[in-house]
Amino acid sequence: MSLKDINCSSLIRNIKINRFLSMSIAINLAVYTGHFMFAQNGLLLMLAGINWAFLAVYAVFTEIVLNITQNSTLNSEKISNNIFNLNIIATSLFLLIIALLSGNKDYLFLCIIPVFQTILEKKTKIAGIILGVSAVVTLITELSNWFDFYLLPVNQIPAIYKSLSFLVVFGVLSSLGFVLAKTLTFTKGKADYMHSIATTDALTGLLNRREFNLRLSEEFARAKRHKSPLSLALFDIDFFKKINDTHGHNTGDAILKELGLLIASKTRTCDIAARYGGEEFALILPETSQSDSYELMDRLRYLVETEIFNKTKLPVRATISIGVAQLDFTDKTPLDFCERTDKALYKAKESGRNRVEKAPFGISKITLSKSYKVV
Ligand code: GH3
Ligand code: MG
Ligand code: MG
Repeated sequence: MSLKDINCSSLIRNIKINRFLSMSIAINLAVYTGHFMFAQNGLLLMLAGINWAFLAVYAVFTEIVLNITQNSTLNSEKISNNIFNLNIIATSLFLLIIALLSGNKDYLFLCIIPVFQTILEKKTKIAGIILGVSAVVTLITELSNWFDFYLLPVNQIPAIYKSLSFLVVFGVLSSLGFVLAKTLTFTKGKADYMHSIATTDALTGLLNRREFNLRLSEEFARAKRHKSPLSLALFDIDFFKKINDTHGHNTGDAILKELGLLIASKTRTCDIAARYGGEEFALILPETSQSDSYELMDRLRYLVETEIFNKTKLPVRATISIGVAQLDFTDKTPLDFCERTDKALYKAKESGRNRVEKAPFGISKITLSKSYKVV
């Protein structure tokens, strides 16, 4: 889902709500027209006719926009943004015209729908303008007694008209609730999407380095506080440069991607897997001792060794070297912990690659300075 899709889907959602709004108004207009016919008032019948014409134009406009948007003809965020604004302005204008022509103040209250839509899309300026204009129109019409024109005095409305009007009000209130609920869900979805692109590595789908640093700091603090075991594994693809040089960068990328999937599928949900650098990965293993993490990583190493990557195009094999360490009291910061693990990874490389090496438990510098003379 791209930013453009998000924009389009918010537009589609709003247009669908405006469609419901037009339907509510159609029901209401039907009630009014019926009453005018019943009262045989020619002038009001004519005004009701003009209202129907506006409703038809608005409904056609809404359907056209919906079709254009659904067919993804909108090719930029800017265009869909402009159409969203245009739709909101058209809706507000439509409501003002209907309110003025029918002399029914209730229609002005419906302007709260475009106001809600714009506020929830964080277009507060447009929301302010719609509110301001409706307030001014309400004031002018009140002062000029325009709404005396309101031709359905409550005591004269037959029960059926009254019930239909209540139904419309009920429908509009429900649609407001619907707007709110949908937008809140949508805003959360948008926030989740933004969060996921900010924290995930695009190629492998694992966490990126920035998120890894954050999560390691959290786990580091938690393990220190609860005195619980915490292990870290750093691993690196062996001779990856050679793989790239021999089979091409695309094959290299495919291996990285498949390795990301393999790591994600073979680890527990509480383990935190990340792309640490170019062809380096990291795995934070909460509540795991060094010997358990050694076993786990050796299994992963074996899985990689036996896996055939890029099967459908150009089958390639790869191996990884791994360093594991368990947090100990000499690790004063997450960086110390990473450094110790990295040293184990170097040892795995030096010792012939395709193997796992454990980091020796650290020797406290304080203990060292007290017990030994460091030369
Ligand atoms: P070693 O066994 O010592 O790790 O050897 P190596 O060749 O893997 O190590 P080196 O650090 O020399 O090379 C890493 C290579 O990884 C170089 C770089 O071009 C490649 N690389 C880094 N990021 C990416 C990537 O996103 N895609 C691809 N295809 N290659 C990448
Ligand atoms: Mg490397
Ligand atoms: Mg490498």
